[in-house]
Amino acid sequence: MNLHEYQAKSILKKYGVAVPRGYVANTLEEAREAIQKLAQETGSPKCVVKAQIHAGGRGKGGGVKLANNADEAFTHASNILGMQLVTAQTGPEGKKVRTLLIEENVYQPGELPPKEFYISILLDRSRAQNLVMASAEGGMNIEEVAHKTPEKILKEWIDPRVGLQDFQARRIAFGLGLEGNGFREGVAFIKALYKAYIESDALLVEINPMLRTSDNRILAADAKINLDDNALFRHKDLAEMRDIYEEDPLEVEAKASDLNYVKLEGNVGCMVNGAGLAMATMDIIKLSGGEPANFLDVGGGANAQTVEAGFRIILKDPNVKAILINIFGGIVRCDRVANGIVEAYKKVGNIPVPIIVRLQGTNAAEGAKVIDESGLKVYSAITLEQAAQKVREVLG
Ligand code: GDP
Ligand code: MN
Repeated sequence: MNLHEYQAKSILKKYGVAVPRGYVANTLEEAREAIQKLAQETGSPKCVVKAQIHAGGRGKGGGVKLANNADEAFTHASNILGMQLVTAQTGPEGKKVRTLLIEENVYQPGELPPKEFYISILLDRSRAQNLVMASAEGGMNIEEVAHKTPEKILKEWIDPRVGLQDFQARRIAFGLGLEGNGFREGVAFIKALYKAYIESDALLVEINPMLRTSDNRILAADAKINLDDNALFRHKDLAEMRDIYEEDPLEVEAKASDLNYVKLEGNVGCMVNGAGLAMATMDIIKLSGGEPANFLDVGGGANAQTVEAGFRIILKDPNVKAILINIFGGIVRCDRVANGIVEAYKKVGNIPVPIIVRLQGTNAAEGAKVIDESGLKVYSAITLEQAAQKVREVLG
């Protein structure tokens, strides 16, 4: 589960990661108050107005604006709040901005030029270790740095038996060229970041930019956290940070019915029991000349209720031209599944696309018979080849 920048910063702050002062606003009235409060606290009218969406590249897309005074800040807030923000990561339709983060401007001129660094922590599956990556080439173009000059990215792999060691945090801070107070704060920053990553069961913590201010302090100017969905049960407070506006509405609906659904771009909907079989089914669809419209694992007990919920979700996708149901009757018997499918079909009613049902396993022949005799626009198949052939036929 992804979090907004302001949510990520609130978590990091609890672990002692330094973040700029700031306030969240969901309305222009709240924005006005936030701007005022911030100016009082910092003693400066300068601030930055930041769109909160689940996508990076906001700076380049016009979702991060600097203001020199309260009027400017309010103008930016009015322009950004409610806008459809398009960035390199949102797709051409962009994302609607429903929340702003209004923060102090930590890029003040002074003794040192403010400098942007990159730092992230994630699991390196190939080494089965967490990996801390950092670069002195932070800011907005880290993808380019990784691509063109990978040697400029420092890496520390963390032994899970002992966790991040002080010498590793120091080695990164030194490698980034931090000195004096910046070095000390940098080491503390890295250690606090690692603790936040571990204790919140995150899959990714990414700070870009991590800023060294002109008075040699270290702050997280931006923050991205991706939490492990499978660990959310032990983080009730973090689970509440879910923002369903940022998720695909069909995926939200599927989750509510306990279905494992991922929307894709193709034209053949599929409904399958088991993730492995679902992957194989998507392959069959491709081999028959179609493109899968979704991944949908209905789980072990494919009954009339789950099939009905699956139908409803798949049919909301206007690209779907056919549905392939592929169920293996292991514990669940094929004839029962077939009856469930027919029942669900009748309940949903008016299904405008052909449905191919492939039932294999216990009572497969009885299942196929139920489908064939239902009188509905449903075609049965027993082998994968038959299913593929039927998909080809109905796609024409
Ligand atoms: P992203 O583009 O979605 O990653 O959003 P960021 O939060 O990283 O902001 C984009 C860029 O805006 C950063 O790389 C900074 O250069 C700049 N920026 C962010 N906060 C401030 C600020 O307080 N002052 C100034 N001058 N620039 C800022
Ligand atoms: Mn950023």
